Amino acid sequence: MIKDIWEWIQHVNSSHRKLRLSCSVFAEHFNGFYSPDFLKTAFFVVTDEIPKPNFPQLREAGLGDFIDMDVGGITYNDTYYVKKEAANNLRLHFHELVHVLQWRELAPQGFIERYIQEIQSFGYDNAPLEKMAYALDGHYQSKGRHLSVEQFVRENL
Ligand SMILES: [Zn+2]
Repeated sequence: MIKDIWEWIQHVNSSHRKLRLSCSVFAEHFNGFYSPDFLKTAFFVVTDEIPKPNFPQLREAGLGDFIDMDVGGITYNDTYYVKKEAANNLRLHFHELVHVLQWRELAPQGFIERYIQEIQSFGYDNAPLEKMAYALDGHYQSKGRHLSVEQFVRENL
């Protein structure tokens, strides 16, 4: 199933390639948190509808609520999708960029496997990958001190 999800994700990303924007546009906003070199390698797509993998096997695995959850954004490897209403929400962009780094560190199949397992074991709100992203976006939002998110994710996964 992991392989099917990864194939679906690659399809979603390649079909949005022309619409995606580089996260370099956030270089100034995220200065001191994300390096310009990293931001160049991450992308986002503003969309009316967040693409979700509606696989029966995922529902059978207990991820139905997650699939149906109304979210402002979702990250698939190096690209995240944000709803039009949330497109100017810097905190959300910051959050999704944490996931881009997690995908990179764990590699796609590793991320997918771990994310599913965490949702099953802890639920969305308590999934460690989510808690890390929420802690970091909260730190940014509250104007916390500069820190390399790239390094933080590497050291805390
Ligand atoms: Zn998240």
